[in-house]
Amino acid sequence: MKKRIIFATGNEGKMREVRMILADLDYEIVSMKEAGIDVEVVEDGKTFEENALIKANAIAKETGELVLADDSGLEIDYFDKAPGVYSARYLGEDTPYEIKNKIILERMEGVPKEQRTARFVCVIAAVFPDGTEKTVRSTIEGMIGYEIKGENGFGYDPIFYLPEYGCTSAEISPEEKNRISHRGKALQKMKAML
Ligand code: IMP
Repeated sequence: MKKRIIFATGNEGKMREVRMILADLDYEIVSMKEAGIDVEVVEDGKTFEENALIKANAIAKETGELVLADDSGLEIDYFDKAPGVYSARYLGEDTPYEIKNKIILERMEGVPKEQRTARFVCVIAAVFPDGTEKTVRSTIEGMIGYEIKGENGFGYDPIFYLPEYGCTSAEISPEEKNRISHRGKALQKMKAML
């Protein structure tokens, strides 16, 4: 039987990305749902590393199998790196991203280009059946744009401007985003360690 990796997320978009990138590994990649796990995890860590390990350990405790989990977010330098680990909860967990993005642009009004730097961060944690823990971190640097643009991606993508592409990360194709994104690069690093 093929060995399994459980990826600790309820997000189907992330699962698609993870399956695509880890496809050539000698492991079957299963979601929490497919593994029949339904655990509420409180992400109360102060760093991306802490949160990713909290998630991975919670599921590993239930299953005893190899578990991967990710934690990601947006750091805006002008806001002292907020929302950071609070990215999903920032301005209200249920607030639509069109509104969150609009509020961020309003709060950045008049801020010059040089002070609009930002990055997406992704940490992937692995917990092995013997309890060994590993984490990897990758980032993608960009800027907070001046308007909401693009239909691809999710979350803060429509305001995350990539200077070398001349557009936002919601305007590039999913394949291109996987290739250059914080999550894509972190998954590649983790893949090399498995
Ligand atoms: P997580 O699921 O706890 O890792 O939540 C990360 C949050 O950070 C998401 O809900 C988004 O708000 C934001 N985020 C992370 N990665 C991206 C991305 O690639 N594009 C846009 N927003 C992202």
